[in-house]
Amino acid sequence: MLNSDSPIWRPYTQMKTAAPPLNVIKGEGIWLELDDGRRIMDCISSWWVTIHGHAHPAIAQTLYRQAQQLEQVIFAGFTHEPAEQLARKLLTHVPASLTRVFFSDNGSTAVEVALKMAYQYWHNGGEPQRSRFISFEGGYHGDTIGAMSIGKSSPWWQAFQPLLFETDVVPFPATFDGDEQVEAKESEALDKIEFLLNQGHHAGIVIEPLIQGAAGMRMCRPQFLQALAQLARQFGVLLIYDEVMTGFGRTGSLFACLKSATAPDIICLSKGLSGGCLPLSVTLATDAIYEAFYSNDATKALYHGHTYTGNPLACATGLTSLELLQQQPHFQDMENHHRRYLVQYLQGHPKLEHLRICGTIAAMEVKTDGTDGYFNAIAPILKAKFLEAGFLIRPLGNTIYLMPPYCITTDELESIYRVIRQILDEL
Ligand SMILES: *Cc1c(COP(=O)(O)O)cnc(C)c1O
Repeated sequence: MLNSDSPIWRPYTQMKTAAPPLNVIKGEGIWLELDDGRRIMDCISSWWVTIHGHAHPAIAQTLYRQAQQLEQVIFAGFTHEPAEQLARKLLTHVPASLTRVFFSDNGSTAVEVALKMAYQYWHNGGEPQRSRFISFEGGYHGDTIGAMSIGKSSPWWQAFQPLLFETDVVPFPATFDGDEQVEAKESEALDKIEFLLNQGHHAGIVIEPLIQGAAGMRMCRPQFLQALAQLARQFGVLLIYDEVMTGFGRTGSLFACLKSATAPDIICLSKGLSGGCLPLSVTLATDAIYEAFYSNDATKALYHGHTYTGNPLACATGLTSLELLQQQPHFQDMENHHRRYLVQYLQGHPKLEHLRICGTIAAMEVKTDGTDGYFNAIAPILKAKFLEAGFLIRPLGNTIYLMPPYCITTDELESIYRVIRQILDEL
């Protein structure tokens, strides 16, 4: 245990009531080793980033080599091979209509950039009245003020409401195994969106495609995204995919846009981008968007940038991570393994409902007397029980979800399902 007089103010933590943090001295594959000798299985890829497992030798090697070559350089007026190569390589994996890559450092800033691009696109194009965004109930897009504004139905930000800009929030047609209402939910959402779009003052629609992460791994069907993309085209508004969490194999395809066969105008990527090694993000855009900024008029440029934009170390690890994904596409098989163990250990369990899987992610709700959602009191209880058993699983309220690194073996995956079953039985 770390000293409780640590000066560190921790993220997403009520410091008064939280247990002291665990001190990690080593990571290897799916395992975290603590200073007291315990080994913990990382079932959530350390906040959804560690796609190849911890301390991957190929990524470590890349990092070492790049650090000896060039560690950082100003990205305005200068460029370097790792960024150029990563940008080109990323574009080979997304719909061909996406042709431009803007670097920043984390998911929130990738989203801020997307919002600013979309807003200024209309402004530069002489339609400044197109200034509103449509976002989804439960959507989470990061913790900066702009990202919070489009994620304002998150349960955390009551105090900030007056600071956030207005958006139009529509229902997200979350579904699960055996859901008979799914089509009705989808048409309700689409009707609302169409009604709003008819007002003609929207810049864009922002969605976490296929899976809303922080809202509790709420999943929608590819069909919904297809209908949404159709509506966006019909009304000429920009479709923005926040694939910060769904990118790099999480949905079973490399990107949710590929899995759903849809082509958004903007894509935000971050969490798995550097293989979970360093903070890095990109915002991808179409030529049409880029063209709206391309001008002899200096005021039409996108005035956004961060000091560490396009950091060479982060870009180099991103390249290696993409190569690993291509060489070992384990993420493609995980849905089947999840399905097998979900059926074997958890399906029909009296304490569970809304079982669902998408690619490498499985999720379910624990039935409790409290209301569903992030502040459900079961979360800390379950988290402590899992930890005691040697598993890092952090329920989002009463939602248990699994999102392991892709290098997990089937036996290891089965052990997670077995422990969930055991802990639910004892509740
Ligand atoms: C985590 C997340 C973000 C924010 O990314 P940070 O790197 O934490 O700023 C944005 N959008 C989605 C969908 C996320 O899951």
